[in-house]
Amino acid sequence: ELKYTDLELIPGKIDAAIKFYKDRQVRLSKSKKPLNEDIDERIRTLQKLYWTIKDHEEDFVTAAFKDYHRSRNETINIELVPLYNAILELIERVPKEIKPKTLKVGTMTHRFGKTVLEKIALGTVLLISPFNFPILLALEPLAGAIACGNSLIFKPSELTPECAKLMEKVCQETFEPGQVETVQGSIDETTVLLDSGKFDKIFYTGSPAVGAIIAEKAGKSLTPCVLELGGKSPVFVTKNMPKSKLDTAVRRIFFGSFGNSGQICVAPDYVLCHESIYEEFVASCEKILKEFFPSISSETEYTHLIHEGAVERINTVLDSTKGQKIIAGHSEKLPARCIPPILLTNVSWDDASMQGENFGPILPIMKYFDLDEAIDNVVSKHDTPLVQYIFSSSTNEVDHISTRIRSGACVVGDTIIHVVIPEAPFGGVGNSGYGSYHGSYTFRAFTHERTVFKQPFWVDFLLNVRYPPFASSKTKI
Ligand code: NAD
Repeated sequence: ELKYTDLELIPGKIDAAIKFYKDRQVRLSKSKKPLNEDIDERIRTLQKLYWTIKDHEEDFVTAAFKDYHRSRNETINIELVPLYNAILELIERVPKEIKPKTLKVGTMTHRFGKTVLEKIALGTVLLISPFNFPILLALEPLAGAIACGNSLIFKPSELTPECAKLMEKVCQETFEPGQVETVQGSIDETTVLLDSGKFDKIFYTGSPAVGAIIAEKAGKSLTPCVLELGGKSPVFVTKNMPKSKLDTAVRRIFFGSFGNSGQICVAPDYVLCHESIYEEFVASCEKILKEFFPSISSETEYTHLIHEGAVERINTVLDSTKGQKIIAGHSEKLPARCIPPILLTNVSWDDASMQGENFGPILPIMKYFDLDEAIDNVVSKHDTPLVQYIFSSSTNEVDHISTRIRSGACVVGDTIIHVVIPEAPFGGVGNSGYGSYHGSYTFRAFTHERTVFKQPFWVDFLLNVRYPPFASSKTKI
């Protein structure tokens, strides 16, 4: 069982993290080369974090398995490998991102001075993470905040207690006291943190409903947030999708929809398929379902749903759905939280599966006749998705869809792998969140971009128009 942090101990942890940041600033200000020292220190800490996680690789696999029967393959390939890459990327980026940049400024009033952009640490960050990628979505932003010179309070998801305990251990082994303080717990503990109003930034990943609570509480203390939320992400398979490539398209859609048992924020949530290709698409789906999941048994490496509540939610959707169900093969009674992948065909907009985010191993497939009507429905019936996926060989058609649907990201011809492009921002818009991170965007998320302007005294003869007394002869520079 996860031991929740005693509520009375939480203010002390917050103060320790704030003190760590402030003491570090004082120490650096006394150093001869504060910038160099700071960069070296951050890199050393990130290297230590990298190796501590590596040393515990097997423990992470075991922890995620205990938490929700997470398959070894998924823990390694879709959590730990992207995490290692992200930390290495941060290590490489720290020197160039943190080094102040001189800006080229053309205006007469500034051109003889020097304008510099500095990325300074924000202070103390509150990091709240979800269950579905309990390691990556916690330790990647955590590493980002460290790369930017902040201290942190880290609140992992209580739904994955084994991973939460292990990450606390990793933090204790890696960081100095106060640098990263872990608070274990659920709503009460998070509420104490939020109500303290003492953070310089909140980085939250989770559901839109809780995101709204976080933003409201943060607003009281003017604390800026990054909110990485969810949504219903559509997949378009249009009439211009080459039939010869359908199997590949389906494999890519299934990778996103059924990976981690569908518990992925950017999972393709439902498919809109043009009627001219619908029958072939469904046939290909059935074929690939058998290929990917020939038979699921209690021994199969297949991730379970996180808790009974999630199973109930999926069952409610399945019970009320009017379409046909095509269920991946299984020969025995499966454990309660193990739901095999299910395709729902002949779905309509008012089906239960077309309401909230499915966040489970079900994929509704809907036939459309008119593309514009399908687009209008996506826009009017659902909130802004975190991503839209388009399978079409027509550039015009892709542009037509993507320009009319606002979304956090748009991926053509593949699913979910855009989240690990280090050069690209990852984030939502509207109901799917605000702010972004990854690569250089992480350095924007966790620093303040400060303008430093240095003006020489000699330029005053050019600028004296700003001083009174004002006369018409002084109205032009
Ligand atoms: P959740 O919102 O239930 O929980 C996330 C975190 O918030 C947990 O640490 C939890 O303890 C805390 N929390 C829950 N209720 C709270 C409350 N009332 N007050 C304060 N804190 C509270 O989300 P989840 O179920 O862990 O994750 C699934 C959701 O997260 C889905 O909607 C998914 O789309 C979204 N998600 C988004 C991203 C992204 O990067 N955009 C990534 C993963 C998951």
